[in-house]
Amino acid sequence: AAPRVIVVGGGFGGTAAARALVRSGIAATLIEPSTLYATCPSSNAVIAGLMPMSAITFGYDGVRRAGVTVVHDTVTAIDADARRIGLAGGQSLAYDRLVVSAGIGLRFDAIPGYDAAASATIPHAWKAGAQTALLARQIAAMEDGGLVVLTVPALPYRCPPGPYERAGLIAHVLKTRKPRSKVIVLDAKDSFSKQPLFQAAWTALYPDHIEWVPLGKGGRLDSVDAAARTLRAEAGLFRPAVINVVPPQTAPRLCIEAGLANAGDWCPVDPITFESALRPGIHVIGDAAAAGAMPKSAFSAFAQAQVCAGAVADLLAGRAPPEPKLINVCYSLAAPDYGFSIAGVYRPEWDRLVTVPGSDGLSPEDASPALRAREADLGRAWFAGMTRQLFG
Ligand code: FAD
Repeated sequence: AAPRVIVVGGGFGGTAAARALVRSGIAATLIEPSTLYATCPSSNAVIAGLMPMSAITFGYDGVRRAGVTVVHDTVTAIDADARRIGLAGGQSLAYDRLVVSAGIGLRFDAIPGYDAAASATIPHAWKAGAQTALLARQIAAMEDGGLVVLTVPALPYRCPPGPYERAGLIAHVLKTRKPRSKVIVLDAKDSFSKQPLFQAAWTALYPDHIEWVPLGKGGRLDSVDAAARTLRAEAGLFRPAVINVVPPQTAPRLCIEAGLANAGDWCPVDPITFESALRPGIHVIGDAAAAGAMPKSAFSAFAQAQVCAGAVADLLAGRAPPEPKLINVCYSLAAPDYGFSIAGVYRPEWDRLVTVPGSDGLSPEDASPALRAREADLGRAWFAGMTRQLFG
């Protein structure tokens, strides 16, 4: 009989894996609850009013046209021994190989006062969609002179440079439309991804509109009072007009309940096949995977999907999967015409993925405005190309 391969999660990793499986001649079923997927990449531009929500929202018609069977339902349980999954709609499906790319879980128990109910008025906007639109509305409605506070967790979390891109694009709105306002970044760390590039941009573009408060200067968030709309951090009490809390993260609940995550809250995998180190027959890719040196990005999820789909095809055919090399590139904006990037190549070493020495590339610190503008355009071209490959 034809092998049954099921992919869980129709985001970057899952959609890419399902399409790659179909390209290699394997019938793949993709399970995703939502009929529309809003991308986190480019969502910071939506929050800053530079793009409409519709520009980051995609349906699954193109995925179906590519030959993937798409089922809109939620996976509620994975039985690794019986090789079956249960769906919220009541169905139970058997698989030979399962690929899970279910994203992240947000820890609503980590910051006193910041739970799921609080996120209805104090957005995290770390899963795109309604949360993105809510934060965009709050920024647009804020009066001049208001304070925006953005809080950032310790690593690891989805998209290491994402909070700093967001801070810069919010500062761009403030500088151009609400010049007496300011954004304060309360950070649970003392350093961050692409820090010299971000900080040089902020000094040049937003000297009066961004303040970064690292851990060592009191950046740790202690509690949130959603009713009073205040924050307590080590640095003091804040009463912002707009609050954006990015909470600490874990693998999603489905992965934790299925026994795919370890004590570190993420899912250990074989770096050649992305098969779970804990549950045979199940592959975990994307943000939920503990992928060593690879950052949690859409580009990483896409690269892992290609490797994983190839490995699944090999394993089903009784072949040994080859040692892969994986690439990640992350573009960030500091302003609509000011971009930069970080790149790396990764390969397996023992049980993890490591950076290939000398492969990591960073935009130069002394680039001309023309190069910054070109990198901003390259970032937009990456987004257009990636979403066309996934959903087109
Ligand atoms: P997701 O894309 O989140 O997909 C997971 C899917 O699984 C979801 O559609 C969800 O509905 C589904 N799902 C969850 N649970 C279940 C279940 N039980 N049953 C069925 N389906 C389920 N990355 C970049 O490379 N470049 C960028 O510029 C960039 N910018 C970013 C900006 C921001 C503000 C943020 C927050 C992130 C950004 N990222 C960027 C990171 C990127 O969004 C993630 O790394 C990427 O989405 C991870 O893909 P994934 O497949 O693991 O998860």
